[in-house]
Amino acid sequence: MSQSLIVFSGSGQVHYQTNTKILAFNEVIAQIVNETATELEPNFYTGTGNQKRFYCYKKDDLYSSLYFDIVTTIDNSKIKQTLAGVLRTYTKVCEDYDEDMVYDKLSSLIDYQFNQLMKLQRQEEEVEVEQIKPINKESETFSTPSTTSTTPKTGKKSKKMRKWVDGEMVDVTDDQVLDFSEGKEVAGGNKEQLKVDNMAFKRENNMVLVNELNDILNESEEEDDNIQQENNPSSGMFSKFKSYFGASKSIEELSKSFYDQLIEKNIAPPTAKTIIDRIKLRLKGKSITLQQFKQTLTEELTKVLSPNVSTDLLYDIKSQTGSKRPYVISVVGVNGVGKSTNLAKLAYWFLQNDLNVLICACDTFRSGAVEQLKVHVNNLKTLNESNDSPAKIDIFEKGYGGGDHVVSTAKLAIQFGTSDNYDVILIDTAGRTHSNAKLMAPLKKFGDAANPDKIIMVGEALVGTDSVEQAQNFNGAFGNKRGLDFFIISKVDTVGDLLGTMINMVMATNVPILFMGTGQTYTDIKRLNVKTVVEMLMR
Ligand code: GDP
Repeated sequence: MSQSLIVFSGSGQVHYQTNTKILAFNEVIAQIVNETATELEPNFYTGTGNQKRFYCYKKDDLYSSLYFDIVTTIDNSKIKQTLAGVLRTYTKVCEDYDEDMVYDKLSSLIDYQFNQLMKLQRQEEEVEVEQIKPINKESETFSTPSTTSTTPKTGKKSKKMRKWVDGEMVDVTDDQVLDFSEGKEVAGGNKEQLKVDNMAFKRENNMVLVNELNDILNESEEEDDNIQQENNPSSGMFSKFKSYFGASKSIEELSKSFYDQLIEKNIAPPTAKTIIDRIKLRLKGKSITLQQFKQTLTEELTKVLSPNVSTDLLYDIKSQTGSKRPYVISVVGVNGVGKSTNLAKLAYWFLQNDLNVLICACDTFRSGAVEQLKVHVNNLKTLNESNDSPAKIDIFEKGYGGGDHVVSTAKLAIQFGTSDNYDVILIDTAGRTHSNAKLMAPLKKFGDAANPDKIIMVGEALVGTDSVEQAQNFNGAFGNKRGLDFFIISKVDTVGDLLGTMINMVMATNVPILFMGTGQTYTDIKRLNVKTVVEMLMR
């Protein structure tokens, strides 16, 4: 399977192209210019060239297009989202970087966006295979993948996956790193991560605080269109309702339409149903207008996202400095969501506040995890030195090993951190599949032994419906006495206004959101602005 991605302008000038072996873009351009391509939605086209498929998204005079040499199963809306993201990336990189750096920067970011899309395609293919898989004749039962093995015990079977490398799909095995960036980081460090944006933080009462999530969302592709839609009640979402304006309407009709909108924003169907049921209960027996329904829904979403406990982590830590042991924070989540990156972002923020930080490598399973964390620590040391900070940062690691090794590493790190005057210990843990009880069980043992002051789950904004179960399973993994304290929602920069994952995770657990991850550098972190997020969900 081959594919390519191109950014070009209306004149036909190519600005960026992956996989230049493929020449199909001439056809793409010709079809768009000659208006023979099918317009799926305004400014979103598809077409075939030599029986191959392309998709193209247009914004102003810029186009981004994806070309596949096979029929693809990826959902059109996801393709559109990626293409819109690619144009955003292109525009932003051209604005922010010198000409000679633009190509390198683009290739890493656009590869990342494309990889996410391919990940989705793989998931869809896996679901399809799952659905047509016959019942295992020997056992006559279905069982979970963790307990069913179709391979001989002697040979560990690696699941075939595919990775996008320079426009070509190559097979990689499960245990090879799927994310392009990880290898690079371990090998030489990701230089981009050394770029920091000092505007990401603000100083208040002698503390350095993380800014709110406003700017990244305002860069959303749909922003301009949405603002227009808001000003114009007869367009977009409101067009569905235009005959209802001001008039009383059946709650059932409004419920159905708003339910659909919540689903479109990536809110899981059961979660969306619960929200709509709450609205119906509140409005029961009343004669209502669209505006009243909308207002009630806005209030409900605001209530869901508003934390009912303090999220002032810095205050908590500062009020505990000088006590017997350092403040211990552990970070959990499934593989690849951004645990170590966000842990490093927290570390950077703590260093800005002159707190001594010890990072403990408790992902003792995945090969390369310790080295990857060392790269982050080295980066942070470099940044810290250039900031002339009096605070120190180091890594505590004891190599690789099984469940007991994790526990002993955590305990030793806390002992060391206590004797060496660290203020905060950040413990990285292995990524694990939330639905695999065998992998989740060690979390309880780890939690009991390390007794972290805070357990933070990192969840990807991209994940959608599965986020409900992920959040519930991690929240329940530490036994009856404690659960998660916070979420960090990562990769918010990649989803535009499809922010439903936040609602899914918070509603499933009542655990508040501490921060959003909005990029790959150490300052790409933002505090949640509930009002902004709710506005995005309501558009
Ligand atoms: P882990 O396996 O959960 O520790 O995940 P990593 O921290 O290694 O992150 C996986 C990939 O996601 C890396 O390429 C990170 O740079 C990237 N990543 C992490 N957080 C964000 C984010 O907020 N936005 C974007 N765009 N990428 C992120």
